[in-house]
Amino acid sequence: ASGAEENDVVVIGGGPGGYVAAIKAAQLGLKTTCIEKRGTLGGTCLNVGCIPSKALLHSSHMYHEAKHSFASHGVKISQVEVDLPAMMAQKDKAVSNLTRGIEGLFKKNKVNYVKGFGKLLSPSEVSVDTPDGGTTVVTGKNIIIATGSDVKSLPGIAIDEKKVVSSTGALALAEIPKKLVVIGAGYIGLEMGSVWGRLGSEVTVVEFAADIVPSMDSEVRKLFQRALEKQKMKFMLKTKVVGCDVTGPGVKLTVEPAAGGPATTLEADIVLVSAGRVPFTAGLGLEALGVNMDKAGRILVDEQFKTNVPSVHAIGDVIPGPMLAHKAEEDGVACVEFIAGKHGHVDYALVPGVVYTHPEVASVGQTEDQVKATGVAYRVGKFPFMANSRAKAIDDAEGVVKILAEKETDKILGVHIMSPNAGELIHEAVIALQYGASSEDIARTCHAHPTMSEAVKEAAMATYDKPIHI
Ligand code: FAD
Repeated sequence: ASGAEENDVVVIGGGPGGYVAAIKAAQLGLKTTCIEKRGTLGGTCLNVGCIPSKALLHSSHMYHEAKHSFASHGVKISQVEVDLPAMMAQKDKAVSNLTRGIEGLFKKNKVNYVKGFGKLLSPSEVSVDTPDGGTTVVTGKNIIIATGSDVKSLPGIAIDEKKVVSSTGALALAEIPKKLVVIGAGYIGLEMGSVWGRLGSEVTVVEFAADIVPSMDSEVRKLFQRALEKQKMKFMLKTKVVGCDVTGPGVKLTVEPAAGGPATTLEADIVLVSAGRVPFTAGLGLEALGVNMDKAGRILVDEQFKTNVPSVHAIGDVIPGPMLAHKAEEDGVACVEFIAGKHGHVDYALVPGVVYTHPEVASVGQTEDQVKATGVAYRVGKFPFMANSRAKAIDDAEGVVKILAEKETDKILGVHIMSPNAGELIHEAVIALQYGASSEDIARTCHAHPTMSEAVKEAAMATYDKPIHI
């Protein structure tokens, strides 16, 4: 039935890129079908990414606070225990509510939802292998590929999702591991390491590079690493994993210095492989159509998200750019705006990035190293949360706001925040950068007291003048 009438837009993939594109297209009056193979909408993000990880980060933070911080706030509780099945059930409930919510949004906006694996037959036809074993063909004037990404595997390390897990397995462990080794110190590894560390695991993070989270401002990164180390997370940087033995009861990992040298063995109950993600294009029929891809397997698009085959578009994790849900959503909206004959725009330089540990680290715009590399004269304004009244009032004051502004014009170039809720605080900076604001613009804007956001205002004052409270 779905193939009977031609669509204006056929979206392959129902993640944050695809489902947002489908809803927006329908809102713009375009007849739209979205194809998803998973059985639920929401993609990686809602099913096995952003949402379940944030659910577990919150639950594990509550446990950790109850165990270690409540007493100092005068809240006495006799016994604090983890009920892991209940914690997982709460996470699963959040996920299923949200994924079903998108089905509701599809109905409301009259997006046709087809379950199954989509494959391009031609620039206007997609065949779908449906769950009942059949095949249907969906046709459309425009096709949007929003098939997202998948876990990157490492040579010699087989992911079984039992003892050697990807982020998907790490979101659903049946027991709290005594020892967890995380391979890869990116945001996913550090978030999942935090979850299990708070619940009692001994966590060691092995990273090939010299630093954790390479995209982070190096000064903030140092503070961040120290904060995680205080939480007993151990780091083995400049270290490579050369062997993985799962024959015993646990896992034995053989590691070596990245530059070469003597090997050592790390024992773990669970190993999490979080060494990045790769675009997912297998079985899509792109080669037959001659769609251009880069060496990393990403689909290449122009500024209107068109591939070299004009009716075929691509958005989200499957194209170059930050592999983040909000970026995929922006791509989706802009892509269908172009299809509808309007204008869309996504500025990848202003996509905020957040690590949802505690404290969180959020940033937008350039790091200090990036500014230095451009050769522009700049100023730095910093304000520590130790001098912020709200942070002191709630006894959660580890962190800093750092603002980089062009020396001559005071135009803000980058903002980096480490603090509780930094992921919320960053948005005034995102707006500021989007509007080309100066640090003085933020400093002269009245901020409510007492709030963490006042630290942003004070860092802005420190950028071109002096802060008040330090
Ligand atoms: P996806 O979400 O991957 O969706 C693609 C969908 O397409 C999938 O559902 C897939 O089943 C479907 N599909 C693929 N091929 C076909 C086909 N041929 N036919 C039909 N359907 C198909 N990002 C953030 O911004 N914030 C976070 O806090 C965050 N946390 C994360 C935590 C974890 C553990 C992980 C793994 C990721 C996290 N991300 C986070 C990244 C985020 O999930 C992705 O950037 C985002 O989901 C990309 O959206 P997308 O629509 O491009 O692709």
